[in-house]
Amino acid sequence: MGLRTGEQYLDAIKVRNKAEVYVLGKEVKDVTTNPFLKPSILSFKATFDAAWDEDTKDLARVWSPFINDETNRFNHIHRSPDDLAAKVKLLRKISHKVGACFQRCVGFDALNTLYITVELMAQHGKTEPKEKFVEYLKTVQKRDLALAGAMTDAKGVRTLKPHQQPNKDAYVRVTEVTKDGIYVSGAKANITGVAASEEIVVLPTRAMGPEDQDYAVAFSVPTDSEGIKIIVGRQLNDARRLEGGEIDGIPYFYNHEGLVIFDHVFVPMDRVFLLRDWQYTGQLVEIFSAYHRQGYGGCKAGLGDVIIGASYNLAKQAGVEKASHIQEKITEEIFLTETMYAAGIAASLNAVQPCPGCWWVNPMHANVTKHLVTRFPSQISQLSVDIAGGILGTAPSEWDLKNPKLREYIAKYLQGIEGYTAEDRIRMVRLLENVSLGVAFQIESVHGAGSPAAQRIMFTRLYDLSYSEEVAKRLAGMKSEVHFTQKTEPWRETETEKLAKSK
Ligand SMILES: Cc1cc2nc3c(=O)[nH]c(=O)nc-3n(C[C@H](O)[C@H](O)[C@H](O)COP(=O)(O)OP(=O)(O)OC[C@H]3O[C@@H](n4cnc5c(N)ncnc54)[C@H](O)[C@@H]3O)c2cc1C
Repeated sequence: MGLRTGEQYLDAIKVRNKAEVYVLGKEVKDVTTNPFLKPSILSFKATFDAAWDEDTKDLARVWSPFINDETNRFNHIHRSPDDLAAKVKLLRKISHKVGACFQRCVGFDALNTLYITVELMAQHGKTEPKEKFVEYLKTVQKRDLALAGAMTDAKGVRTLKPHQQPNKDAYVRVTEVTKDGIYVSGAKANITGVAASEEIVVLPTRAMGPEDQDYAVAFSVPTDSEGIKIIVGRQLNDARRLEGGEIDGIPYFYNHEGLVIFDHVFVPMDRVFLLRDWQYTGQLVEIFSAYHRQGYGGCKAGLGDVIIGASYNLAKQAGVEKASHIQEKITEEIFLTETMYAAGIAASLNAVQPCPGCWWVNPMHANVTKHLVTRFPSQISQLSVDIAGGILGTAPSEWDLKNPKLREYIAKYLQGIEGYTAEDRIRMVRLLENVSLGVAFQIESVHGAGSPAAQRIMFTRLYDLSYSEEVAKRLAGMKSEVHFTQKTEPWRETETEKLAKSK
């Protein structure tokens, strides 16, 4: 069985009772009923539902040669550029169903990253990681496991390498190796959906040298392994979820991130994919970050669609949807949204194949996609705030609406055009508030998959300035060394492509 329903997923994480999850300082035993986490769980569940819903099942189900059966796309290893584009399309579509981050992409990208990494290691004669990883992959696909991806370390002082840190656990590290497995300690920060996951796939977060070899580790562990503690982060408006309402407190769908503590956690050897293999960490980070940056072209475009729809509806409710400046603003929102999506699709269809059977995104386009995402969501939100009016920050609560003494007044003074009620207006305002000003659209857009500076570093690494300079010199009639080849773009090879070619 390679596919689970959303209900089967919920049943599975309900009994995952060894997991140590903390919310607002208190331990949570059942994440599926906890009011703080429930919206996140429902959002994660949407990735399972996608494989059964008529409108998404063709995108969400995919044949896996590893298990000779269908698997959920979120656990699939890309087999073609079309597969990569299908990822972006599916992410856009699921965003329409939940209006939030559905939290399963980091695990998805971690699987694909490890697949290319162990393949490159095998090409260099180190075959054991590939054998172990393929066995693990089969388990994940057959059981349709919910994975979180944990790459970002606590990192302590940013300018110091792992081994230079005053806190030796600032990056997750191997503390002991036995014949059966390894022990690890440290913490991974900002981990999306981790309390909703069944397994955590852990990757190193930066390129490392030989002196950092204890930190050069990649593995997978069940989320409820002994020694793992998950501290769920706070978000704007989060306490509203505890009010028990149905409008204000985003009781439907949302996402969460967590600080994941690894306190002397045992990892069996068959789940350890990189062990002190510092030579592969640079490529691994390059591969992962490009995969994750491509995906944002789908999910953030999907959230853009929700915001466009909400802006348009609120304009209609206020009777201003035909005003030329409003139409212009909505057109701008469409342009910004479609630009992010176009970049994500380009990163997919112009894919790179660093090894036989490996399909990686186009690294330049993937970095461009994410860099657009660091800017455009805040612009889209700003436009939606303009269109929605001040009510976006001042609307009465649903409790005022439900108070018999106030209900009539709110109905009278908050209604715009006929056909929509004051409650409709408040509902749409709350949706827009939570989607456009929330973590996934504002903060994750900037920092998820690396801060903006990380993409700019990649632009300068990948773009061959000396080639463009020679092109310009030739056209200016100066002495030029330009050598034209069939290659169209002035791009250099990535570290991953170089490693793939080296023997
Ligand atoms: C909502 C959300 C979800 C996320 N989900 C996940 C997830 O599921 N899994 C995961 O692994 N990670 C996840 N991340 C983490 C994300 O990848 C990191 O936030 C990102 O890499 C930035 O790291 P940081 O947050 O530690 O920022 P910092 O490193 O503290 O960056 C702050 C600033 O310092 C700059 N800076 C950092 N280091 C240096 C340096 N050495 N020299 C100069 N400038 C520097 C940065 O460019 C930035 O401007 C998530 C983040 C967010 C916000």
